[in-house]
Amino acid sequence: MTTATVCKPYEGDILAQHSANGRVQLLKDECNDSLADYRIGVKGEYQPVTDIFLDDAPEAVPVLILDKESLQDWLEDAGPVARNWADTNSFDAEPGSILVLPEADGRAARVLAGAERPGDMWACGGLPRRLRSGTFHIENALTPGEATRAATAWGLGCYAFDAYSGSGDGKHASLVWPENTDRNTALAAVEAQSLVRDLINTPANDMGPERLEAAIREVANRHGATISSTIGNDLLAENYPTVHAVGRAAAAAPRLIDLVWGDESQPKLTLVGKGVCFDSGGLDLKPPAGMQLMKKDMGGAANMLGLAHMVMSAALPVRLRLLVPAVENSISGNAMRPMDVIRTRKGLTVEIGNTDAEGRLILCDVLAEASSESPDLILDGATLTGAARTALGADLPALFCNDDAVASALLDACEAEQDPVWRMPLYRPYRKLLSSDVADMNNVSDGPFAGAITAALFLERFVEPGISWAHVDMMAWNREARPGRPRGGEAQFIRGAMAMLRRRYTV
Ligand SMILES: [Zn+2]
Repeated sequence: MTTATVCKPYEGDILAQHSANGRVQLLKDECNDSLADYRIGVKGEYQPVTDIFLDDAPEAVPVLILDKESLQDWLEDAGPVARNWADTNSFDAEPGSILVLPEADGRAARVLAGAERPGDMWACGGLPRRLRSGTFHIENALTPGEATRAATAWGLGCYAFDAYSGSGDGKHASLVWPENTDRNTALAAVEAQSLVRDLINTPANDMGPERLEAAIREVANRHGATISSTIGNDLLAENYPTVHAVGRAAAAAPRLIDLVWGDESQPKLTLVGKGVCFDSGGLDLKPPAGMQLMKKDMGGAANMLGLAHMVMSAALPVRLRLLVPAVENSISGNAMRPMDVIRTRKGLTVEIGNTDAEGRLILCDVLAEASSESPDLILDGATLTGAARTALGADLPALFCNDDAVASALLDACEAEQDPVWRMPLYRPYRKLLSSDVADMNNVSDGPFAGAITAALFLERFVEPGISWAHVDMMAWNREARPGRPRGGEAQFIRGAMAMLRRRYTV
């Protein structure tokens, strides 16, 4: 891997890069510790990427964001050339569509970008890679929030995962920082979300528990956080029996990664992410279609790492802890079996109804540990159940929360940040669906109903009463490409969560 030697503020500021063997690595250049030190490489080699964001560029071509209604108003005043050009190209401001209006000499005079509605952050998301080169600025008057989101979408629109294909050229157009943008927030969001995508997209043969730990370690080092890891049989010695039970059959040792950052006297914020680096289903093996995307089963861990990066980048006044149980759910002679009983860290016994409900197992010991220091707030993220997708689809993570004020603050922030989640109930009478004849509880219910809720109720048993806790059951994957959001691994919930945390912890 070549190392960066160029150092320009706000140039190509993305956190991860792929080394020649395709593994995600974080690249730090030698100049300083600013945000600008991290770049995303293309085809495994460092390339001096074109600037994503510029302070100023007199030659920048204006971009005007229009929805269908505002397009009509604009065309009325635009003159016959623009009207005819829009008509010739059948431009109707369909969301994600663009129209380049030419100068008399054929160069671009202005770009029209179709939007879902006013304030649609993704209106410009497709532009950087569609336009491929040049520098642009957004003409619309934007509020600070709109400007920050538009810049974030532009930065995310530069993303491509081409470390293995060799097909990408990394070309993208640049943007003059929109007025009123909170640059640090936008950059941290682009870095975090690009890192999340990289970690999820990297195949499991290059993203096992050890690599996931290395990625977390890089972020920890960057922010001066401390990090420790409990590996293999040490998990038994340290009393994490469920993490060990799920991960022990894999060739790669299971581990619990523990990152701590910030001032001990500040409120404690604890993030927990499900890090199943590949989920075969264990002995209750998944069918091929169900196993297809299972490299993404560490998406919760990737997302919580992205959120941790944003929290530390913003220097929020919290004592942050990030806990990631990282395992591969595999099979061999020592694999856990259906109807095994595990005594958990908390002391509750769990009968294994299905070895494919492993995420809640690795999370339960970790939630018990998280609770032990009575934090102000625990957030966990997990690609936990297909049932959550059946209920809400791929784009709406399910939010479960034992604190109505926290839930409504999260919902408000996620709505405002266009990072939507939908609240589902911790309906306590369904606890009986998790009953077991031989243990305190089963890890699954024996029926087809309410699978996302029973999974959340399972986790809730391991959070000490009185601690505010939110659990997000997410897909962490784009099934189809949309502007700024290619197919593949995706960050969900974390921009919204960050906005909520900023309000909760900033005086
Ligand atoms: Zn599973």
